[in-house]
This record gives sequence, structure tokens and C-alpha cells, in this order.
Amino acid sequence: MAAMIMVVEDEPNIGALVRTYLQRAGYEALWVRSGEDALTELRRHPIKLVVLDIGLPDIDGFEVCRRIAGELPVIMLTARDEEPDRVAGLEVGADDYVSKPFSPRELTARVKAVLRRTQTVASEEVIELGPLRLARGAREVHVDGREVELTQREFDLLEYLLRNAGKVVTRDQLLESVWGFISPGETRTVEVHVAQLRKKLGRPDLIKTVRGLGYKASG
Ligand code: CA
Repeated sequence: MAAMIMVVEDEPNIGALVRTYLQRAGYEALWVRSGEDALTELRRHPIKLVVLDIGLPDIDGFEVCRRIAGELPVIMLTARDEEPDRVAGLEVGADDYVSKPFSPRELTARVKAVLRRTQTVASEEVIELGPLRLARGAREVHVDGREVELTQREFDLLEYLLRNAGKVVTRDQLLESVWGFISPGETRTVEVHVAQLRKKLGRPDLIKTVRGLGYKASG
């Protein structure tokens, strides 16, 4: 069964476009035009993810996000170059954002990545590798019993590596799955995050670099 996605956008052109993109990508799309409607319709349908505009006629996107984050994954629609909006969106619990104008491929790739991150997990709540223990529900990571504080992105990155433990994961694969980028080559971002993650874990040997290929988690 196709996952149902809610689009919250008051501008008719953008709303219709997003709905079409999502339908073409094989999702069921429910389009509502205000924050109030979003909160009402969420109770009536089995929504799996929300694509949320910030500027809405009644309750703005930030407030809607604040009320539903934690319950459902949210992708914010932001104006290009509005960095404060993106940061604020992530602070109120959005999982990702897409800047307008966006391409259909970009939007659907982000939706796919966020759904993959949020859906695969229910089945397996705790992943262990050597001294490392990742609890998905609590979003906690322990190494040798010591809790390690990670950012949301670092947590997602670690989780992806652990789910693929023993296998080589390429930088482009990480970009697509963890960041939702479809343009390969922006691998510096991955390298910086992996370096930071190793440092925080205090066990750099758990995430090995496979020269010329990518990374491999192994205990
Ligand atoms: Ca709007």
C-alpha cells in the first residue's frame, strides 16, 4: 500500500505541483491549505509524513511542526537562502527541509530518505556492535556503558552504518540515504560528519575507512 503524505501549502500552484510530484513517485497525497486543516486531517488519515510550508494563513508552519514533531516526520518547505527559517525549522523538530523552487526529483528523494530513516526502524529498536549500543526509540548511544551525545544527523549516520555493519557503504550512498541528496560528489559533508562521529564515540576503529570506496562499521 502506498504511504500517504500530507502536503500543507496555501499557494495553489505549489500545492498542486507537490501533490502531483508525490503521486507520480507512487505516494498517496493529501493536500490541505491551512495549519488548522492539517491538524484536523492528521487525526483522520494514516499519514506517514508531512510536507509543510512555513507561511500559512492561520497557524504557521513552525507552530504546526512543534505540535506534530515526534509523532510524524516533517519536511519543511522554505524560501531559498532563508537560512534562519531552515535552522528554526530543524529546531522545532523538522526532519529535513527543501528550498523553493525545488525539483520533483529533489523533493521525492528527500521524502524517500526521511521515510526510510523513520520507517525501517520500528522493527529493530536496539542495535549493538562491539561496545556500541544504539537505542532507536530513546535516541541514545552508549559506548562501554557511557552515553554519547550526538546531533540528529550524527545519530542517523551512525544508525545507517550500523544497519549495514560489515558492508562497505559509499559516501554517495550516505549522502542519499542520510542527507537525502541525489547529487553525488558532495562528499566533504560526509567526511566531516564521520570524523566528528568517530571523535565523539572515542572508538575510531568502529567506523573504518575503506580506501577509495567509503566506510564500514565493524566491531
Ligand atoms: Ca505559503
